[in-house]
Amino acid sequence: MHRFCCPDACRDGDQIRIEGSTAVQIRRVLRLSPGDQVVLFGLDEWEYTVQLERVDRDSAHGRVVCRGASEADPRCKVTLAMALLKGEKSEWVLQKGTELGVSRFLLMQTRRTVPAPDERRRDARWERYARIIREATEQCGRQRSPGVDGLLSFDQALAHPAELVLILHERATTRLTEVLVDGRRSVLDANLSVQHPGTHGVSGPDTLLLVGPEGGFTEDEVALATDRGARPVSLGRRVLRAETAALAAITLAMDAFDH
Ligand code: SAH
Repeated sequence: MHRFCCPDACRDGDQIRIEGSTAVQIRRVLRLSPGDQVVLFGLDEWEYTVQLERVDRDSAHGRVVCRGASEADPRCKVTLAMALLKGEKSEWVLQKGTELGVSRFLLMQTRRTVPAPDERRRDARWERYARIIREATEQCGRQRSPGVDGLLSFDQALAHPAELVLILHERATTRLTEVLVDGRRSVLDANLSVQHPGTHGVSGPDTLLLVGPEGGFTEDEVALATDRGARPVSLGRRVLRAETAALAAITLAMDAFDH
């Protein structure tokens, strides 16, 4: 069934009215007609299954046939701070990271970040990021889209509040998985019932993962992060591309904490 993030849909009892780009998508792109069902989310904390009753030129009307909570939203909070990457790689990480369950993305400019962001295209770029994230959210069944902040300095990214801050570094001697296992255990031991909005409770510590650019973090950056309480962690003996490292780290963190 087609899912749409549609914060501006109007609901009156069991009647729903959809306008704007979602209505265009319903009529022109997907050619849906009365009798077809769609899922809408983003209006409030619920997910609505709607049976279409009328599809007009600029709007669609339907009746709510069922309301439920999304099972797909992450139950832990993992923030990915990544250095802006070349070409479309950052976008690729935003898309896959959303599917994997990232709660928030921070895009950073670190010492060795290669692409100098073109200020003139800033708005277009951020609109594209927002669209990619929204489509990935719709596709994977999540209700809540991760936010994206940027462009931040490394310092600003480090200041993002988190209980566990991990800097991914190819020369670190501690493995990421060791720290994740400890993190989960400490949350369970402390029996902390940290409830994040829209999630279901005990999971793991709020985690910030920092991933460097193609050229890596400088030793100074790693030292600064360590000074501020971050732990340098490794994903193994091979040097990975930044996007590979980001997705591998997210996957492991979600596997450890998203229960
Ligand atoms: N400085 C390196 C490559 C950096 S790889 C060089 O040019 O030789 C880009 C980023 O991916 C790194 O900053 C790090 O955050 C992450 N990364 C790559 N391989 C990793 C590994 N084995 N363990 C942890 N992080 C890794």
